[in-house]
Amino acid sequence: MAEKLMLEVVTPQKAVVSEEVQSVVAPGSEGEFGVLKNHTTFLTSLNAGALKYIDSKGATRYLFVNGGFAEVLPDKVTILAESAERRRDIDLDRAEKAKQRAEKRLADKSAKVDIIRAEAALRRAIYRINIKKSLK
Ligand code: ATP
Repeated sequence: MAEKLMLEVVTPQKAVVSEEVQSVVAPGSEGEFGVLKNHTTFLTSLNAGALKYIDSKGATRYLFVNGGFAEVLPDKVTILAESAERRRDIDLDRAEKAKQRAEKRLADKSAKVDIIRAEAALRRAIYRINIKKSLK
C-alpha cells in the first residue's frame, strides 16, 4: 500500500507542481477522472481543461492544463502537458486578449483562417478565464 500520493505536473518549459496531494481530478480525453492513493496504474491522454487537486493540508487547488498525458501509479500522478498554469499564475488580461483574437479569426470567413487552430485557441482562453474567474 502506498503511503502517499504525489502529483507532478510538467511542461516542456518547467515543473509546475511537485507536491504531496490527497486527490486529483483531471480532464481525461475519455472523460474526467479522479485519483486517490493506491489507484490502479493507467495511462491516458488529456483534453485541455481544469485540473483540480486537494493538497496535503486540505486546500483545493486549480490549474489549467493544455492537453497532454497522465500516468497514474498507486503513489504518483504525472501530468505531461503542452502548457499548464496554476490558477494564481493565469494572466486574465492575456487570456481575454487571446479569446478576442480567436473570435475575430473565427468570424473572418476567408479561407486562409485555420479554423481548428482558432477553435483550440478559443477553448484554451475560455478555460483559463473560467478557472481564473469562477472557481474558488
Ligand atoms: P497566447 O495566445 O496568449 O500566447 P496560448 O493559448 O497560445 O495563449 P499557450 O501556447 O497555451 O498559449 O502557452 C504558451 C505559454 O504561455 C505557456 O508557458 C503558458 O503557460 C503561458 N500562458 C499562455 N496564456 C497564459 C495566461 N493567460 N496566463 C498565464 N500564462 C499563460
